[in-house]
Amino acid sequence: MNKFCIFCGKKPRNKNNEHVIPKWLIELTGDPNRVVYFGPIFNEKTMSLETREFAFDQFQFPSCESCNHKYSELEINAKSTIQRLINNEALSSADFMILFDWLDKVRVGLWLAYNYLSKNISEVDPNYHIANRIGNSDRAIFIYKSDSVQSGINFAGVNVPAFQYYPICFNLRINQYCLFNLSTDFVISKHLGLPYSDESYYTDGQSIKYVLTEGKNRILPPIVRAAYDKKCTEIYQPIFPHYEGKERIGHLYNTDHVRSLSQDHEKGVGKILVSEKNKIVEYPLMESKAWIPKNVWKMPDLMRMIAKQVFEFQIYYLNRGPSYAEVSAEKKNLIKEQYFLAKKVNKLFIKIADEE
Ligand SMILES: [Zn+2]
Repeated sequence: MNKFCIFCGKKPRNKNNEHVIPKWLIELTGDPNRVVYFGPIFNEKTMSLETREFAFDQFQFPSCESCNHKYSELEINAKSTIQRLINNEALSSADFMILFDWLDKVRVGLWLAYNYLSKNISEVDPNYHIANRIGNSDRAIFIYKSDSVQSGINFAGVNVPAFQYYPICFNLRINQYCLFNLSTDFVISKHLGLPYSDESYYTDGQSIKYVLTEGKNRILPPIVRAAYDKKCTEIYQPIFPHYEGKERIGHLYNTDHVRSLSQDHEKGVGKILVSEKNKIVEYPLMESKAWIPKNVWKMPDLMRMIAKQVFEFQIYYLNRGPSYAEVSAEKKNLIKEQYFLAKKVNKLFIKIADEE
């Protein structure tokens, strides 16, 4: 594989290395010199799990100096937010904007990292970099709290082919909290009453074509219809599409309902929303403890539940992928084959979690 900048995708200029998992997070979650375990990696060629360990310092990837610099402010802000989160302190809607951006960065960073580590066994085109994936699509975080007094960091869902094909969902555990993160185009729009897409097509290029439908102009929870454990706090942020050109879709977004859920209507940035009993309301602008889940899980129960939930979500969204109507038979067969395998691997992991 050619070396590319993890942020912009180009040949790195004044090459620098970016830690996908930042140093400050390693420090917040235990001994900074420990070996962090990033496996197992699934080898599709041999259909087996390969266990590989990496010291945190090995888990870094090429970037341009300027790209690296550009995201250092996000890292500084994210560190402050995560520190307050693990200390159970009040957070504002601006803090959640930062957390969402940072989780986008980590999710795509992990996607590229595993692409490197597995030597791109999935043959995915890594034409999908951090810079154009931050704040570009609908996003959600389900926050689960545990009783754990032990610090630590874990991931779920990032080392499987399903994540390589469709990096929509993963879990990041930071000390006592699990952040279950979901993000892709239109993933929360329909049940927030916004314009949505129930019809999409693969194209012969990289992009997916979406057909948009007028929104229902009212919020109809649950916002996410894949099955999930509700003993959490749900945080949402709709992001309206802008890559297709405002002129073409603009009129669908010109409603009072869309405006009522907009933080910046012009830029297509939605408000931060939070679940409150069975309702979805705007998250307070001022610092608030509205995000702290009422339920406290036993850590082993939470880890088992959440691993299964990540794998099940990945299967759910692979099953609801775009239509093949506009691509060649060759591409259709390739995608079908890949998804079949990806689902098989996830089912294997679900079975392992069930047996634990
Ligand atoms: Zn770059």
